[in-house]
Amino acid sequence: MPRTLDPELRRALAERIRYYNGLGIYDFYRRETAGDREGFGVAVEAAGAESRTPQMKVPGVYIEEIAPPEIQPESREEMSPRKAAAVAVPVAIEENIFEVLAPKPEYGVSDPAKALKIVREDLGDCTRCPLHKQGRKQIVFGVGNPKAELMFVGEGPGADEDQQGEPFVGRAGQLLNNMIKAMGIERRQVYIANIVKCRPPGNRTPEREECETCSPFLMRQIAVIKPKVVVALGAVAAKTLLAMNASMVQLRGRFYDFKPSGVRSSDPNWDGCKLAVTYHPAFLLRDPRQKGEAWKDLQMVMKELGLKAPGKSEE
Ligand code: SF4
Repeated sequence: MPRTLDPELRRALAERIRYYNGLGIYDFYRRETAGDREGFGVAVEAAGAESRTPQMKVPGVYIEEIAPPEIQPESREEMSPRKAAAVAVPVAIEENIFEVLAPKPEYGVSDPAKALKIVREDLGDCTRCPLHKQGRKQIVFGVGNPKAELMFVGEGPGADEDQQGEPFVGRAGQLLNNMIKAMGIERRQVYIANIVKCRPPGNRTPEREECETCSPFLMRQIAVIKPKVVVALGAVAAKTLLAMNASMVQLRGRFYDFKPSGVRSSDPNWDGCKLAVTYHPAFLLRDPRQKGEAWKDLQMVMKELGLKAPGKSEE
């Protein structure tokens, strides 16, 4: 059910955000508070804020899990995607105070290529999370068509991507290229980005805090590009974008209504997009038997976008 903020809390939060805006701070990170898992409440912190005391619940677009009492957590790993879809229900919150109070520099810029450039400039030589000092060669911002109807979002850059400054250029990237080709389109037609923009050392999974610190920039990229469909590649991308903790079995096999949290598009006619989840190409390289399942996910996306596969896919 849609919810509205308590007026007193809204006023207090507005004051706090204006205070930070006055200091030139526009980036806020969402952090789940202890004991809030049931309702997915989040705390808000300003980037670089020293005090952690002003924590308040804020609205956004997130997922509320409604688990029937007879379904135990351990048995849910085994659930079919269809049954899982009945359990995980996306809930859109009525108000998003960030949309109103934290304008981003790219707002009002109608050319998406220029707007993306502004987001990149705002990111700068980022040191917002620990990944900036763990051996990254460069920030891997994202690549592709600024007006893409389809976006792919992965986890983070690997060694090849860190070297070349472009997402998905290694072996996993080759497979992603083949997946895109099998959908009847070309890589240059889509936009590709990651949850974190710096390479985690040893290709480890990015920490949750790193994902939460970096993903507001991805949200801004999505709001600028205004795709029709976002495909989350792998569990890290899916969980971060959907703010939902679930297994891949639960997450795949359906579309979610998605609106990037904490931002708004400069196009008033764009009210979010569909989001689908599939396996990360690196996982498919390790377990090629799952390629058939990934193809089913892509076919669902193709149907949504009216795409037709060429005669024969190459993967
Ligand atoms: Fe900044 Fe993102 Fe790199 Fe962290 S991963 S340092 S938030 S660009």
